[in-house]
Amino acid sequence: MTLVCVPITVDDLAPALEDAERARLAGADMVEWRVDACFHGEGDDEGIALCLRLCEHAPLPCIVTCRDRAEGGAYDGDDAGKIALYERLGTSEHAPAYLDLELSLWRRSANLRQKALLGVQHPGQMRPSVTTRLILSHHDFDGRPRDLSRILNEMRAVEAARVLKIAWRARSLRDNLEAFDLLTERDRPTIALCMGEFGLMSRVLAPKFGGFLTFASLHADGATAPGQPTVEELLGTFRFRSVHKSTGVYGVIGWPVGHSLSPLVHNAGFEAAGHDGVYLPLPVAEGWEPLKATLHALADARALHFRGASVTIPHKEGLMRFCAETPGWSPDEDAMRIGAANTLARDEAGWAASNTDAPAIVACLADALGSLRGRRVLVLGAGGAARAAAAGLAGAGAQVRIAARTIERAEAIRDDLAEHAALEGGAIEVCAWEVRAGAACDAVINCTPLGMRGGPGPDLSPLSDDQLDALGECVVFDTVYNPVETPLLRAAASRGMRTIDGVSMFVRQAAGQFELWAGQRVPRELFERVVREGMG
Ligand code: NAP
Repeated sequence: MTLVCVPITVDDLAPALEDAERARLAGADMVEWRVDACFHGEGDDEGIALCLRLCEHAPLPCIVTCRDRAEGGAYDGDDAGKIALYERLGTSEHAPAYLDLELSLWRRSANLRQKALLGVQHPGQMRPSVTTRLILSHHDFDGRPRDLSRILNEMRAVEAARVLKIAWRARSLRDNLEAFDLLTERDRPTIALCMGEFGLMSRVLAPKFGGFLTFASLHADGATAPGQPTVEELLGTFRFRSVHKSTGVYGVIGWPVGHSLSPLVHNAGFEAAGHDGVYLPLPVAEGWEPLKATLHALADARALHFRGASVTIPHKEGLMRFCAETPGWSPDEDAMRIGAANTLARDEAGWAASNTDAPAIVACLADALGSLRGRRVLVLGAGGAARAAAAGLAGAGAQVRIAARTIERAEAIRDDLAEHAALEGGAIEVCAWEVRAGAACDAVINCTPLGMRGGPGPDLSPLSDDQLDALGECVVFDTVYNPVETPLLRAAASRGMRTIDGVSMFVRQAAGQFELWAGQRVPRELFERVVREGMG
C-alpha cells in the first residue's frame, strides 16, 4: 500500500499538532515534520526540545525532515547540528519512524555519515533500541537531474538507507513515466515524484507502480513542494485509495488544464459506476510537437494503462492530425465528417477520436425546441465548437447560419459539411460578423469565448441588446460555462427569453465521453450537481 504523508511546516508545537490531527482525520497515514524553520543548528536546545515533543505527541507515525536551503527547505544551520538533532531523535524514547537526510549531506563527510548512522537502524547498528529508519533523498527544482542514473546508483549503494527518495521538477508529462520506471526497478521502498504542474500524475499514480508514499498538503497554500495536491483532492477527487496496478488512466489534455472541472466530473462518475479508472489533468504545452510526443509516450507506456482522454484547447486540431498520421489511430465516422474531435478512447482495435460536442449541442437544443427540423439557428463563431454545432444541427435538419469574424473559417465549415447537411434536409449558410443579427431565428448559440472568465472579453456579450431584440423570440444558448451566467445569458433572461447555459452542454458532452470509456451511462444529475458545486 502506498502511504499518504502530510508535510507540516513547524513553527510551534500546538498548531503543528493540531494540523497533524487534522491530517489524521482527513485520512493521512503519516506526517512529515518539516523542522527546518524551527531548528537552527548546533546549540539550539529549544529547537531540539520542540522536535522531541513533536515526535512524542504525533498522532500518526512521523518522518522528521530538516531540509537544507539548497534542496528547497529553510535550514540554514550547520551540518553537525542537524546530524546531532537526528541522532538525538533516533535514540529518544519516542523516536520518529523515519529521518530524511539529503544525499548531498551524506556525501559531504565520512565523519557526518558515521554520526548519522548512530541514530538510525541499519545492519551494523549496535543499539537494538534504535528503530528509526533512514530516508535518503535528492531533490532537483530545475528539472530532471542530468546524472539521474548515477545518483540512483549512489543512493542504492547506501545500505543504511531503508527508503530512497528522488524528486525533480517535471518539464512535461513524460518525466512522470521515467519516475514510474524508477519505481518499477526499485531494490527497496522508493519514493519517485515529479514536482510542478506536470508532476501531479506521479503523485496520484504512485500506487500503480508500488511507490512507498506520496505527499499531500493539508491546505491548498500549505504545499511544501510545487504541484502537491491537497489530501482532500488526493483521497477525494482522485480516489487515491482505489488506484492500483491495473487501474485505467484517463485525463484532460489541454493547456492550461489546471482549473478544468473534468477531473471532478469523471472521477465522480467512475466512483458511482464502479469503473476502475482515474482521471487527471494532463497538461501538454501548446504546439504540435509536445502533443505528438506526449500521445506517443502515454500510449506506448503499457504499464500506465492509458485508456482515454478529453482533448481541449489548443490541441483539438492537433488530435485530428495525429490520427491522420499515426497507424492504429483514427477518427470515428462522426468526427471524420465534422472534422473535429474532443475525445480519445481505446478499444481492442486501437485508438478512436470522437466528437461528443455535436450530440451534446443537439440534445440541449432539442430539449428546448423539440424537433430541430427546419429550425433557424444562428451560430456565432467558426472554431471547433461552432463546427460541432453546425454539423450536429444541420445533420438534424436545421437551417444553420454561421456568423464569424473570420469569414473564411465559416465558409470552410459550410463547404465541408454542406453535402451531409443536404442529405439530412438541413442547410448551412454564412454571414459577416457585422450583420449577425440581420434576421429572426429560433435559436442563437454563442460559440465564441466572449463572456468567458479569463477569456478575451469576460464582460462582453457577442450580441448587443439591440441585436438580441432583432432576433425575435428565440432560445439563447451560450456554450461558455465559466461563469454559468454570462453577459449574453443575463441580457437574454432579463428580456424573458429562454436560455441554455454552457454547463448543460458540458455535462452532456462529458456524459458522452464517459459512456465511451466506461461502457455505461452515468446519471446526468450526478455530473450536473458536481459541476455546479465545483463552480462554487
Ligand atoms: P476556437 O476554436 O478558438 O474558436 C473560437 C471562435 O470564436 C473563433 O471563430 C474566433 O474567431 C471567435 N472569436 C474569438 N474572439 C472573438 C471576438 N472577440 N469576436 C468575435 N469572434 C471571436 O474555440 P472553441 O473550441 O470553438 O470554443 C469556443 C467556446 O466554446 C469557448 O468559450 C469554450 O469554452 C466553449 N466550449 C464549451 C463547451 C461546453 O461543453 N460547454 C465545449 C467546447 C467549447 P477567429 O477565428 O476570428 O479568431
